[in-house]
Amino acid sequence: MNEVNRPPYFTKPQEYVGNNQRKTLLLDMDETLVYCYLGRPKFFGASSEDFYSFRLDDEPEVEYCAFKRPGVDRFLQRCAEYYDLCILTAGDELYAKTLLRWLTPSIPESRWYCRDFCAQDANGIRYKDLSSLPGPPFDPRNTLLLDDSAPGIVVPATNGLSIPRFAPQAGRSDEENYERMRRDSALDTFGNMLCKAKFTSCSDVRTPIREFYEYMENWTRQNIA
Ligand SMILES: [Mg+2]
Repeated sequence: MNEVNRPPYFTKPQEYVGNNQRKTLLLDMDETLVYCYLGRPKFFGASSEDFYSFRLDDEPEVEYCAFKRPGVDRFLQRCAEYYDLCILTAGDELYAKTLLRWLTPSIPESRWYCRDFCAQDANGIRYKDLSSLPGPPFDPRNTLLLDDSAPGIVVPATNGLSIPRFAPQAGRSDEENYERMRRDSALDTFGNMLCKAKFTSCSDVRTPIREFYEYMENWTRQNIA
C-alpha cells in the first residue's frame, strides 16, 4: 500500500502539529502485536488473514510464520484517533519491515524504527531509549511505548507500559497454544484503556502509567496472597 492509499487517520493530520493534546504511542512489534514462528506450526493456515508466511533473502531456508494478535487492526484504528502511532522494535530491519508491511501497513514506513534505533548496554542487551528517536525532541509528558518487555527495557522506564506477552507457552502443543492465543484479548483491553480520557486528555502520560502499575501491584498482592 503506498502513502496515498493509507487511511488518512493513520497519518498525523497537519492541524495536530504542535498540539499537545495529541500524543505519540510507540508500539513494540514481536510478542506485542504479533508472534512469529520459525518454521510452520501445525495449525497454521495460509488462507487466514491472521497468518502470514515469508522468507528473507539472507536466509531463504527459514520460513517465518507470523500470527497476528487478535484485535490488532481494531486497536490501531482506535488508537490512531488519539495518538501518532509509531513502531519501535529491536527486530532486524529486513525482518521487521517485511513483517510490518503486512501487519501495520497503515502506519507510515517513516515511523517504523527498527533495531538500529535501539541502544545496547555494556553486556550487549538491547534497550529502547525514547529520547534518541528522530523527529521532534522527546517529550516525556506525551510519549509512551507499549511493549511486552516494558518497563525493564525502556528508558525512561516511566514511559513504558507493559502488555502481557503474546507467545506460545513451552511444554504445550501447537494446537493448545493456538487455542489459547486466538482468544487473547489484551489488545482490546489496552485499546479501551489507552482511548479513555485518563490517557488521551492527561497532561502527563507518566501519571496514568504509574497508576496502572500501582493497580497491577495491588491486584497481584490481593490475588496471590
Ligand atoms: Mg516484544
